[in-house]
Amino acid sequence: MSTPKQVALVTGANKGLGFEIARQLGRRGITVLIGSRDKDKGRIAAEYLTSENIDAHGVILDVTHFPSIERVRHFIEQEYGRLDILVNNAGIHHDWTLKTSDFPVEITHEVFETNFFGVISVTNTLLSLLRKSEAARIVNVSSTLGSLSVQSDPASPYYEMKTFGYNASKTALNAYTVHLAHELRETPIKVNSACPGWVKTDMGGENAPGTVEQGADTPVWLATLPADGPTGGFFNSRESVPW
Ligand code: NAP
Repeated sequence: MSTPKQVALVTGANKGLGFEIARQLGRRGITVLIGSRDKDKGRIAAEYLTSENIDAHGVILDVTHFPSIERVRHFIEQEYGRLDILVNNAGIHHDWTLKTSDFPVEITHEVFETNFFGVISVTNTLLSLLRKSEAARIVNVSSTLGSLSVQSDPASPYYEMKTFGYNASKTALNAYTVHLAHELRETPIKVNSACPGWVKTDMGGENAPGTVEQGADTPVWLATLPADGPTGGFFNSRESVPW
């Protein structure tokens, strides 16, 4: 089974940045699979995009639940025979007021389950399908809050934002980007981390300065990089972010 159209999977695409990333990829003529842990939310999001003439389909995907990842792998294999773009967007945060010294280890585990281990499970499970693409792209939606260089720079506007569990999960995610990109360096597959910037979503809140349209731009750019584009990098507003 194969299709001439490119096929993209976006995790956590029922709302927020994931939905907008799927929409912008869909507008480029790419078939988009709307990963959603809630079946109805995914269906409604896909129907919305379909009404905008985008080829969108909901897939039930909880990135912390391996059987659901395996079902998605099987579905993509049967329907499309390959995967061209994987955007690991699903993510959670926690109470921003928790101090590092008394940060509950249970919450650290919970955040890492989604933001780090979930990405590894999804990506490693789908890698065989990504290898079947002519030039697959993997985008890990990270955060500048995960940059150790930025976090340790007193002059940085992010210096005071010490939200430990979340920040550390994104630092670990960036390590996965570097390691996977290295492993795949001789292949056409590119792996990059993207920070969308601080944007208005349920996670970002109302006071965020950016829109989801702005936030989706860098992940979509990385998802559609040409052959001479970067791999193993970390970008915000299409500019390199220090690790
Ligand atoms: P959001 O509005 O809260 O959306 C998060 C999405 O992730 C939702 O679709 C949610 O599904 C999904 N999700 C959570 N846990 C999941 C799981 N276990 N399996 C599958 N899906 C799951 O957040 P957002 O602002 O769009 O954030 C998207 C990404 O951008 C995250 O990785 C976040 O860390 C990153 N980011 C955001 C900002 C910002 O300012 N907004 C800044 C930097 C980085 P449900 O609807 O079922 O909860």
